[in-house]
Amino acid sequence: MTAQSSAVDGVAVLWEERPGPLAGLLTFGVGTLDEGLSELGYCLAVQAHALAGARPRVDAATDQGGGETTSFAALGSPDAVGAYFAALCEALSRPIDALSDVDYDDRVTDYLTDPVHTDPWAAQVARRLRAYDRWPPARPVPAEVARFRDTWFVAANAVLVLTGPPPANLRLPLRTGPRPAHPVRSVTGMPSTWYADSVAAPSLSLVAPDAGTAYPVVRALTWRIDNALRKAKQPVECFPDAIGFAPDGYLFGLNLGSLRTSRGGDAAQQAEVLWTEVRRFAQEGPSVADLDQMRGVRAPKLPESLLQWRSVFALSAEADRELLGYTVEADEADDQTPVEMAAVAAALLPSAVMVVPYGARPSLPGLNETSCWDATYLPPGDEVKLPLLRRRTNRPRLVIGADSVSTVDEFGAVHTIPAADLLVLTGDDGLWLGHSGHGCAVDISAYATAKERLAALVPPDRLRISR
Ligand SMILES: [Zn+2]
Repeated sequence: MTAQSSAVDGVAVLWEERPGPLAGLLTFGVGTLDEGLSELGYCLAVQAHALAGARPRVDAATDQGGGETTSFAALGSPDAVGAYFAALCEALSRPIDALSDVDYDDRVTDYLTDPVHTDPWAAQVARRLRAYDRWPPARPVPAEVARFRDTWFVAANAVLVLTGPPPANLRLPLRTGPRPAHPVRSVTGMPSTWYADSVAAPSLSLVAPDAGTAYPVVRALTWRIDNALRKAKQPVECFPDAIGFAPDGYLFGLNLGSLRTSRGGDAAQQAEVLWTEVRRFAQEGPSVADLDQMRGVRAPKLPESLLQWRSVFALSAEADRELLGYTVEADEADDQTPVEMAAVAAALLPSAVMVVPYGARPSLPGLNETSCWDATYLPPGDEVKLPLLRRRTNRPRLVIGADSVSTVDEFGAVHTIPAADLLVLTGDDGLWLGHSGHGCAVDISAYATAKERLAALVPPDRLRISR
């Protein structure tokens, strides 16, 4: 790309002439990967606060959040777009005395998958990157949100990309300060393993040093896995996802799920289909049918509502590169041969970690089972009694100790969560314990009567309400 660049009020501005009305995308180098456990939802809170102070007079406005970046987009006449970003930046430098509950709650509702803690990709990200958007956000504290914003949402950590020259007299009056350093992330979790967790369906994660060669492989795999699942009559599909956590670190997910409300099927069989297809691909590479299919769906389709943003979103890789040193929307290496694609898949295989719903017992050659229910020692405490009717089923036992909560499964395996790592997740239809160190969740919905006692064990920001 031959983007031209300048700086306005310390914000890097890049533009390239594109047809149509002027579109702009203001991106900040901060996302959920930068939020600590107590800061979860702060990027959303900053967005809500800024947008409440910059009601758009442009033709269209939108905003995005994600693991790596947070952005705002506007489309219209040059004057209107300039005025919009000026108002937004001004709002972003105003004191935060209160958050609008309505705006923030709407934002959280849009953002959360339902329910977020059973999303297999969120489980993988929690386990492998120690990033926490598996848990619903805590109610944000305005003073803390302001501190977070003043660190991350500064001119030096922002880039504006435009589909034409910057509007005359453009101002971007953001707070100043150095560009903050991102927390150093490395992948955790023993590779070549599978484990069980409170997830709705299986997911396989893979670590790649280079997204450009891995994306086409993941796309071809997605199509193959879907085909194999259909043949096996399993009511789920494959939803790939990726997060870039370092210039040479991408976590890819081949996540199974269903868009229909009735989930189901045989999770063990689904995990086996997923693993079999990935291993076969690493041996044989893509088939002719795989390649045809890939050519047919080369560009991921934008939803109708986002089509008008295509021209400016196409420039967003430039903003990523400037802010992060890498791009989340990787340039794809289109010229890989089938043999090269097989080699890329084979190189990804040793990094594999599969998560399956509790109770599933898949046969996954080459992956060793690992479990965080690995203790036999049960710390002393009060055992919570189940209501009589529920005692016959195989519920884990629940023991509340002085500084930990333990569950014991039907085979006597113990899972202990120290109070310092404990999250209590409540929702309309359930109760879960979270372990921030493991990134896991344990369903204890049968113990709804213990909700108050468990809530009393954790500080308010560790009691999370799931929708
Ligand atoms: Zn665990």
